[in-house]
Amino acid sequence: MSRRPNETEQEYQARLTMERQRSVAQERNSHVADADRERQKQLHWMRCPKCGAELSEVQFRDVKLDKCFACAGVFLDDGELEQLTGKPGWFDSMLRFFRN
Ligand SMILES: [Zn+2]
Repeated sequence: MSRRPNETEQEYQARLTMERQRSVAQERNSHVADADRERQKQLHWMRCPKCGAELSEVQFRDVKLDKCFACAGVFLDDGELEQLTGKPGWFDSMLRFFRN
């Protein structure tokens, strides 16, 4: 894996680390039985990955984000970040929306 043209050394190292983490996670998950995976999903579905409280779906623009009102975390499903970033001003707008 080589460094991308506009990528800093720090971003490149972070990407390498993430690729190693992805590989380890995929290897670990390949040994988990479907029944165990389904049981874990039922136990943790719509629960905050940081504090365990129940998550609420919050509509922001065209995306339903998962919000934890216990620890103030905001979580994105796969593909939702891409949906948001395609629109100008999304980050400042999101900060204002979620500011307490
Ligand atoms: Zn939380």
